[in-house]
Amino acid sequence: AQLDTVDIIVLAVILLGTAAYFTKGKVWGVTKDPYAASFANANGGAKAGKTRNIIEKMEESGKNCVIFYGSQTGTAEDYASRLAKEGKSRFGLETMVVDLEEYDYDNLDAFPEDKVAMFVLATYGEGEPTDNAVDFYEFITGDDPSFSNSNDPALGNLTYVAFGLGNNTYEHYNSMVRNVDKALTKLGAHRVGEAGEGDDGAGTMEEDFLAWKDPMWAALAEKMGLEEREAVYEPIFGIVERENLTKDSPEVYLGEPNKMHLEGSARGPFNAHNPYIAPIAESRELFNVKDRNCLHMEVDISGSNLSYQTGDHIAIWPTNPGQEVDEMLNILDLKDKQNTVISVKALEPTAKVPFPTPTTYDAIIRYHLEICAPVSRQFLGTLAAFAPDESIKAEMVKLGSDKDYFHDKISKNHYNISRTLSVVSEGKKWGSIPFSAFIEGLTKLQPRYYSISSSSLVQPKKISVTAVVENQLIPGRSDPFKGVATNYLLALKQKQNGDANPEAFGLTYELMGPRNKYDGIHVPVHVRHSNFKLPSDPSKPIILIGPGTGVAPMRGFIQERAKQAQSGENVGKTILFFGCRKRSEDFLYESEWEEYKKVLGDKFELVTAFSREGAKKVYVQHRLKERAKEINELLQQKAYIYVCGDAANMAREVNTVLGQIIAEQRGVSESKGEEVIKNMRAANQYQEDVW
Ligand code: FAD
Repeated sequence: AQLDTVDIIVLAVILLGTAAYFTKGKVWGVTKDPYAASFANANGGAKAGKTRNIIEKMEESGKNCVIFYGSQTGTAEDYASRLAKEGKSRFGLETMVVDLEEYDYDNLDAFPEDKVAMFVLATYGEGEPTDNAVDFYEFITGDDPSFSNSNDPALGNLTYVAFGLGNNTYEHYNSMVRNVDKALTKLGAHRVGEAGEGDDGAGTMEEDFLAWKDPMWAALAEKMGLEEREAVYEPIFGIVERENLTKDSPEVYLGEPNKMHLEGSARGPFNAHNPYIAPIAESRELFNVKDRNCLHMEVDISGSNLSYQTGDHIAIWPTNPGQEVDEMLNILDLKDKQNTVISVKALEPTAKVPFPTPTTYDAIIRYHLEICAPVSRQFLGTLAAFAPDESIKAEMVKLGSDKDYFHDKISKNHYNISRTLSVVSEGKKWGSIPFSAFIEGLTKLQPRYYSISSSSLVQPKKISVTAVVENQLIPGRSDPFKGVATNYLLALKQKQNGDANPEAFGLTYELMGPRNKYDGIHVPVHVRHSNFKLPSDPSKPIILIGPGTGVAPMRGFIQERAKQAQSGENVGKTILFFGCRKRSEDFLYESEWEEYKKVLGDKFELVTAFSREGAKKVYVQHRLKERAKEINELLQQKAYIYVCGDAANMAREVNTVLGQIIAEQRGVSESKGEEVIKNMRAANQYQEDVW
């Protein structure tokens, strides 16, 4: 019955489109794509006049459950969509997913009592809100948020549930959901169930989410009097094949991120919605041993209005590898339709198609979906209904419901979705899964961030990137696991250096980009500003702790100080603690440090820790300990401390060791030492850039 509805809607769209074709397309010659108008409307209508009033939006679209997300890397957004789907299919809730950035919250006090708000909130970096949640967060946790009505308590009508995405290796674990939950409760809102917390640090995010949501649904069903029904998959997006278009038709998106890019008129502002296609000025390998290597790249932003400051991040927009695109097309039995042009339409007025259309299956899979990422157990449960036969279906149901079995068969091997489907069905094709399921069930392909390793004072229009290529041997799996963005960068490096057949550990990429717009030596990027910044007074001493690629921003800092010294400024003591495996293997920028030393003289010191040279493993934190006296003296001279790199172990241990150093050197307790560090963090005298 559901498919009939889809068919009717799809037919209606085709009729509408045809009408548009004969009226607008031909008569006025304006609308190149006869479907454009109807699809634009289906996607939430024209930008102009778009309401920022969430209550009004819920009323007019007949919704009773709104799921707000604060997301940086797409996971929170993905969880929000999954809650929306589940709420609808299991409990008949009228759900909508909302980007926190798109509405105002001063009328949250008018939220109807019989409806529910869900908050899915990621914590970013040092306990910060994600970019899209900043305004909401400041408003709701502000001293005295002012609402349009004068209810007492202000949010007495609001029923909500909350889930946070965090990482326990960071100091401010899940602070977003904790603080928002606290603020909402303080304003009189009623939470249903526990405020859930997912932990990326422990690698249990997905399982934490699954464990949180079941009791939450039970509590919510009771509170709202919802009746559970058997969940049946209903697609959110309709796919219409566009027989009159080919991949060469000018209005077809072949991976271009937006209309300006399609029309060849891309211009700034360049940001998370609009990348700059930047030329790569230079690229090389900093080291290459066995299967490990590290890239250095110079990205030229001179043709754009992009700018950066030392310590910022650059986002690289990757392309999926050709082999993975092929495997996906193959297992879904879409190989013959690889270049078929389709339009994707939201069948649900508040859903948004996450990429521009008309486009092709190839472009969606190659440029827009995270097809290599870990698989969600819940998603396998959804796909079970479309299994090629009953025994495969039974296996999918088992994988979807048995956590340990799923771990053993799938996650442990780092399988992605196409590999999972193929392993489970032993190669049998999955031709009947509605493609919508993948648009809904996979995350949008995300840009990857890199700590800029150059100084904007030295090279304002060229951004350096220092990236280790992800290539890991997984026990029990025959081929290594390879990261998306870094292998793409490696192939780009080869191409940029004149290699006719670039490949990264056996992977090939569409390096020319959509319609050859990347020309093999361009990469889409944008810049993200960070708070990781040198003291404004260059005479302040600084202690830099950056092992491995954590050295990236430190190189920028030292470059900057060398330049300042050359210009006659008084530069303070600069100590860099760098660590790697072996001097002869992965010592990043070894010869450059000597150049900086020539300029900075005694002001610069490099302290190295090589973990695999002696009988005992030596890490940067051991070196810090050896220098306890000096570190303490520098801190007393108000030195700034910077830590960059591995969040899980290194940053934590450095924090502990610094606390101990203070305790020992100043003759105070360890807890006092920790408190000193805490205060330094609060005063921005201790800064971290960890991932
Ligand atoms: P991805 O494909 O994203 O894989 C990354 C990891 O995800 C894998 O190692 C694995 O653990 C997991 N994973 C992915 N797919 C699967 C699967 N199917 N099954 C199981 N697990 C899976 N890196 C640098 O080298 N240099 C830097 O200067 C740097 N700066 C950064 C700054 C910031 C602020 C942040 C957030 C990150 C930074 N990183 C840096 C890390 C970088 O952004 C990327 O995460 C890294 O390069 C890997 O990207 P990738 O696309 O190659 O790997």
